[in-house]
Amino acid sequence: MTKRKNPFAASWTYEPAPESTDHIQIKKKYDLFINGEFIKPQNNKYFETVNPANDEKIAEVALAESEDVNKAVKAARNAFKGWSALEPKERGKYIYRIARLIQERAREFAVIESLDGGKPIRESRDIDIPLAANHFFYYAGWADKLEYAFPNRKAKPLGVAGQIIPWNFPLLMAAWKLAPALATGNTVVLKPAETTPLTALKLAEIIRDSGIPKGVVNIITGAGKTGAEIVNHPDIDKISFTGSTAVGKYIQKAVAGTPKKITLELGGKSANIIFEDAAIDQAVNGVIDAIFFNQGHVCCAGSRLFIQESVADTVIQKLKDRMSTLIVGDPLDKNTDIGAINSKRQLKTIENYIKIGINEGGEIYQTDCKLPKKGNWCAPTLFLNLSQSHKIVQEEIFGPVLAIQTFRTIDEVVEKANNTPYGLAAGVWTQKGAKIFYLTQKLKAGVIWANTFNKFDATSPFGGYKESGFGREGGLHGLKPYVKFE
Ligand code: ADP
Repeated sequence: MTKRKNPFAASWTYEPAPESTDHIQIKKKYDLFINGEFIKPQNNKYFETVNPANDEKIAEVALAESEDVNKAVKAARNAFKGWSALEPKERGKYIYRIARLIQERAREFAVIESLDGGKPIRESRDIDIPLAANHFFYYAGWADKLEYAFPNRKAKPLGVAGQIIPWNFPLLMAAWKLAPALATGNTVVLKPAETTPLTALKLAEIIRDSGIPKGVVNIITGAGKTGAEIVNHPDIDKISFTGSTAVGKYIQKAVAGTPKKITLELGGKSANIIFEDAAIDQAVNGVIDAIFFNQGHVCCAGSRLFIQESVADTVIQKLKDRMSTLIVGDPLDKNTDIGAINSKRQLKTIENYIKIGINEGGEIYQTDCKLPKKGNWCAPTLFLNLSQSHKIVQEEIFGPVLAIQTFRTIDEVVEKANNTPYGLAAGVWTQKGAKIFYLTQKLKAGVIWANTFNKFDATSPFGGYKESGFGREGGLHGLKPYVKFE
């Protein structure tokens, strides 16, 4: 077994520890999951999904077009009457069953997620897949308790929900969307992103095996055009979208003037703020996690770091040291900290922002890690010497690129942190509770973490302000976008 050396830490080596792909079932070709079975797309068109770590084709996936979307919506509509009238406790039982089946096949899900999307196996195995199961468990529990969620009001399902999800947390986003919709008695047409369809299709197999009535969940694959067909379909009552702000705006326009309800969870440029009284080592680790988790493909990534001037030199030096120990490489290796960039298109976007950062006078620092020859890779990157007007401070990069600025006073940092079109998340690092309370009032962000970052839980609501979208997912709040009141 080859030992690899970290170029920065002279005495430091590690043994590659790849996760086995034995017993992982991936079909060569996937059809559309409509009305409880896998069926061929009307026009018999398929597209490839590739492994972003080596550019190899993994499988072919059906391309849903207009007729297929029609079929899926019709199946969901036909199933709605029975599903919404079912004893709530019975609905809950199916959702519990889906949760348990995810747990039983957790390893398979984790490996497929890392193969198809490029994220480190440690993250798929320890974060994405367990959280996805938790979401189903949590909302299964609400199915027969809606009268407690909405006291003195009678919550009714909306009907057919069209759900469109992104490629950064494929199974987890499917769980975020499906679990509350089903618990409240809606039926669903869900579309995963075109670069990461495989775990949603595996979930379709589980859903079929759960015995849930046919047509309650339909999972169809395709790219933006398929998504737009769902958005514009006249027999859909609700659109729930997670993805880029650009597409979110387009969807909002498309549903304006229709009776469709809509929830949008869009981009972000979240501030992470370190005060001089913070536990510095803990904060540095938190910053690393905030920006490099999932290659920075995280809508709430802490992509803008603000450091109080008196500790800036120390924090930056510690950050560089810590960055140099990050292992970039094979997503299936259990040592890996940073996996592959999800697609060639996304890599180009990130590289373009790095160029812009340099051209605008930012001071770049990248670790000298050896990147694999094949696949899509980006070394962990940070930029110094920036001001509010720099493009890489204002725009979402969605990659492992951190924009660093300094500040002197609390009011200065509040103003800088809020000076963004986004409002998804923020992080605060300080030992003073009073500062935390002050900032949670002043920062315009849907989620604010104190002395931690990127912590998710099925019980807590998530969502944004401003151009980060509206509506909440998770927790009791996550039920509301799927019900109406008599
Ligand atoms: P990104 O730009 O990071 O790839 P997108 O917002 O384009 O993110 O993608 C998120 C999801 O939205 C994917 O499932 C994608 O297929 C879908 N999508 C893209 N364009 C549209 C559109 N015009 N209407 C509906 N869905 C779309």
